[in-house]
Amino acid sequence: MSGNTLFLRLEGPMQAWGNQESKFVIRRTTDAPTKSGVLGLLCAAMGVPRVEASRERLPRLVALQMAVRCDRPGIHWWDYHTVGAGMRMRTAEGGMKADTMLTRREYLCDASFLVVLQGDPPVIEELAGALRNPVWPLYLGRKCCPVSRPVAEAESVTCSDLLSALAFLPWRPRYEGDEVPESVDCLFDWVPTAQESEAPPETEVWYDVPISFEPPSHRPRFVSRRQLQLGRDGQVETGEPTQRRTPRPPRPRANYGNTQYRRVRQERLDRDKHLCVFCKSSATTVQHVTYRHAGGDEQIEELRSLCRLCHDAVTMIEYGLGMGLDRINPEEQRWRDTIIRKRDEIIRFRSLETRRRRLAAEEVE
Ligand SMILES: [Zn+2]
Repeated sequence: MSGNTLFLRLEGPMQAWGNQESKFVIRRTTDAPTKSGVLGLLCAAMGVPRVEASRERLPRLVALQMAVRCDRPGIHWWDYHTVGAGMRMRTAEGGMKADTMLTRREYLCDASFLVVLQGDPPVIEELAGALRNPVWPLYLGRKCCPVSRPVAEAESVTCSDLLSALAFLPWRPRYEGDEVPESVDCLFDWVPTAQESEAPPETEVWYDVPISFEPPSHRPRFVSRRQLQLGRDGQVETGEPTQRRTPRPPRPRANYGNTQYRRVRQERLDRDKHLCVFCKSSATTVQHVTYRHAGGDEQIEELRSLCRLCHDAVTMIEYGLGMGLDRINPEEQRWRDTIIRKRDEIIRFRSLETRRRRLAAEEVE
């Protein structure tokens, strides 16, 4: 006898859930699994190819309601990725490119999510069976992100709504004795009700409901973010969840085509005598201390000149911390040791890469 709720545990060394922001050369991840990623994983478990899934399965699957509990949010990490050195490769624009294509890919490392899907019991029953005995390998959003434990978290049961489904299983520690956090972030499908027919203003719009996997096309859904309080035993405490605002605003960027920005950037470099404010090497770029006026209204005080190495280090630290509009000021004493450590890490990694490449070249000779 099957219930109306399916429990999935999405856990692995790396996860990557792309959304509409994830463009070809810069592939970002959202901070929680997307509906299209989760339904794709279920189709893999059933062994349904993309075209068939799009034609026959998706209409029934998208009708399921989804909620995610972020038991461990993970940290953001970037991969510098090269594709096809020296081989002629087709580009997204349809042309051919002879040199290496560079892409940057973002991952969530060490994250753990409890995903619940709720709907028609026969559909839930079929999915539960597929997860117990998956036809194809399951991955967490990107093929290089395998799961590290069985995805089926528990037998399906009947729950009255998504909230009670998320409260059904306790928070899962990674190691025995891990301290239980006070609360966990959750993301719910928001659906209109008789009492609430319009989505509240803080509701987010995610373009991740698959209409078709091949060719890929998506429609939007409303996502509501909440916080659930945990007891000391890791059980979710009942009661209304508290509203949660988006913790990671979309990453702002400078408008490099803007002449006003170019002028301020040049002024900053001149004022810093074209030297990195952190290590005094020659500066090739500037750091935004804040993105509050990014887009061309930057003030000179909001920028600092940096060399490439210090800039990479600062950027990686910012990503790791999931910083919003206000970023790192490399002149502040409190960042000094962190930046030095990150610089060392990058230098060590790069010299290892150089050695590897030299050895590979010697082998060829
Ligand atoms: Zn520097």
